[in-house]
Amino acid sequence: MKYALVTGASRGIGRAISIKLAEMGYSILINYKSNESEAKKTAELVKAFGVETELLPFDVSDKTAVDTILGGWIDTNKDKTLEILINNAGHRQDALLMWMTGEQWKDVLGSSLDGFFHVTRLVINGMLRKRYGRVVNVVSLSGLKGLPGQVNYSAAKAGVIGATKALAQEVARRGVTVNAVAPGFIKTDMTQDLKEDELKKIIPMQRFGEAEEVAHVVAFLASDKASYITGEIISINGGLYS
Ligand code: NAP
Repeated sequence: MKYALVTGASRGIGRAISIKLAEMGYSILINYKSNESEAKKTAELVKAFGVETELLPFDVSDKTAVDTILGGWIDTNKDKTLEILINNAGHRQDALLMWMTGEQWKDVLGSSLDGFFHVTRLVINGMLRKRYGRVVNVVSLSGLKGLPGQVNYSAAKAGVIGATKALAQEVARRGVTVNAVAPGFIKTDMTQDLKEDELKKIIPMQRFGEAEEVAHVVAFLASDKASYITGEIISINGGLYS
């Protein structure tokens, strides 16, 4: 049985990706941090495609939790193949650097950069053994361009971009690809507090994107059709930055 693990799958972009991968026939491991009721809604939407699904709550920044819960799942499910990993969990804690606390720095790097390391390290071995795998990291325009007020978030996402390019070269010979998508402004809980009417004026397409528009690209990169693409970062930003 083929599985995809989507981190941060309870809401937003992660939910949309889970639905697309279920549509492709993958059973889905739904990771989230704490929002169980939303994670259950994702599970219901995924089940509509007739695939299996399991909730796997853990904080990706917490190495012990990842090792125990994800490592435990891998150990007890040797008959199941984890073929796709989507490192999507992440969040913002914006502040100008001069006012940024150590907590805000650590927390944002923890969920994106440390999370990438903790989760990918456990999953990649199985992919290498099977000589097939797809890793897609959800980064951000912020990690490519750098955005003021987001020194922590820009650093975290730029770190994952570097890691994507490096890991892609480490595992290419074993049929495993590692790519990233870099969304601009996408309508989710994460962007709820932003002034969309003002911000859309600077976007050539004059609108925020939808989570599904990110999910379509992720699904392609996670498919066997993207077999000769690796180490690539694809922007999904309505023309805002390239
Ligand atoms: P969202 O709606 O706020 O959802 C965030 C998801 O990540 C939730 O499922 C949340 O779980 C989970 N999460 C957060 N921290 C976690 C942790 N430490 N461990 C495990 N799960 C964690 O955000 P989104 O807009 O869909 O964002 C998804 C990804 O896209 C993020 O990496 C974000 O940086 C990136 N991104 C978003 C935008 C945008 O405009 N929305 C733009 C560029 C990049 P709970 O529900 O349990 O809290």
